[in-house]
Amino acid sequence: MSNEKIPYKIYLTEEEMPKNWYNVRADMKVKPAPLVNPGTLQPMTAADLAPVFCDELIAQELDNDTQLVPIPEEILGFYKMYRPSPLVRAYCLEEKLDTPAHIYYKFEGNNTSGSHKLNSAIAQAYYAKKQGLKGVTTETGAGQWGTALSMACAYLGLDCKVYMVKVSYEQKPFRREVMRTYGASVTPSPSMETGVGRKILAEHPGTTGSLGCAISEAVEVATSTPGYRYVLGSVLNQVLLHQSVIGLETKIALDKYGIVPDIIIGCAGGGSNLGGLISPFMGEKLRGERDYRIIAVEPASCPSFTRGKFAYDFCDTGMICPLAKMYTLGAGFIPSPNHAGGLRFHGMSPVLSQLYHDGYMEAVSAEQTAVFEAAEFFARTEGILPAPESSHAIKVAIDEAKKCAETGEAKNIVFGLTGTGYFDLVAYEQYNNGTMTDHIPTDEELAVGLAGLPAQPEF
Ligand SMILES: *Cc1c(COP(=O)(O)O)cnc(C)c1O
Repeated sequence: MSNEKIPYKIYLTEEEMPKNWYNVRADMKVKPAPLVNPGTLQPMTAADLAPVFCDELIAQELDNDTQLVPIPEEILGFYKMYRPSPLVRAYCLEEKLDTPAHIYYKFEGNNTSGSHKLNSAIAQAYYAKKQGLKGVTTETGAGQWGTALSMACAYLGLDCKVYMVKVSYEQKPFRREVMRTYGASVTPSPSMETGVGRKILAEHPGTTGSLGCAISEAVEVATSTPGYRYVLGSVLNQVLLHQSVIGLETKIALDKYGIVPDIIIGCAGGGSNLGGLISPFMGEKLRGERDYRIIAVEPASCPSFTRGKFAYDFCDTGMICPLAKMYTLGAGFIPSPNHAGGLRFHGMSPVLSQLYHDGYMEAVSAEQTAVFEAAEFFARTEGILPAPESSHAIKVAIDEAKKCAETGEAKNIVFGLTGTGYFDLVAYEQYNNGTMTDHIPTDEELAVGLAGLPAQPEF
């Protein structure tokens, strides 16, 4: 097969689509550290997590041993509405860069929510429905996760309550209307509906909200409303498990043509798309079967991998969620305004954090203006208007392809193109007007967030 001309888009047939998710934790020698109760500093048990999360999702969260998890039929059926996603050979980009490198990207923006987040939204909504729940609550910042969850809940007939960071609620009315069209209720956060929202509003009248605050409100509503649970779109082990469908499809497509990647690149916010994309490749690496260079790209304004600390920390600013051991900038760290809203989380997936700590992957940071320069170049060359988040991966893929042009090496570069940027046109407008700036936190600024890390468990 390897002599065949590689098509622009490698698709899989329905029969070729993955039937199982792959749990990379099963192949990790050093497992990710468990979630910890902030009060007792002991690992969270399934019973501790039950008031917040759905039962089956808790089981997936805690399961470090099962390698393959069958994807339920209903979820496979939903996946078939928008999957398989294409693996695109970026012939036009290669030509424009005059590089001998072969560049491939896995495009996850071909659904209404515009990102990969739907892969986990449908899974989480499915298990909530199966448990007989009435609905789920969540937070959304930029809006991709809330949109994906609304779509999944509409499909399954589940109620969906989204707490949307107030500034985004006001700045992205179109995102909000997409969610409402799919039947979700969307509340600007902080709101007067919750105790934590009322408290924050009393202390900071006029605040435009934060992701941490919206998480706290969504968790409060889930735990105080019978028949509701809270769901989260990134960071958690279960989310990486669901997102492994991205990497599995990529690997099947590459194998069809005998292509072996040299470098795999993805943007990293909470780590779910990157964790999903690299899962099967990382599995081979962990089992000693093959080696790959794996690169995480994060914004220079929110550099958890490259400048953070590997420690237990809160996942939310309200400090009500369990502690996770991860590369973090501190739950109190407030990233300066950056248009890649999906990459503004202070922490990183515990799975990826452990893998990075153990030397299985690299991380680099990229500045916003350089990222938009790559985004514009990509849009004009490959035709797709990329999300600012995804453009971090584009930037580094282009950098690596340029290095190949210098050395003459024909490396295979694979990157994750997580979504489209139609709701990010204010950012593009700033870039086009030349008014976009770069914000890189100083060491002193980072020290403030890191000083707020909680007491560390002793085990
Ligand atoms: C949310 C989002 C990301 C970042 O989240 P991860 O969990 O790190 O994958 C990246 N790209 C897009 C388009 C997103 O919506």
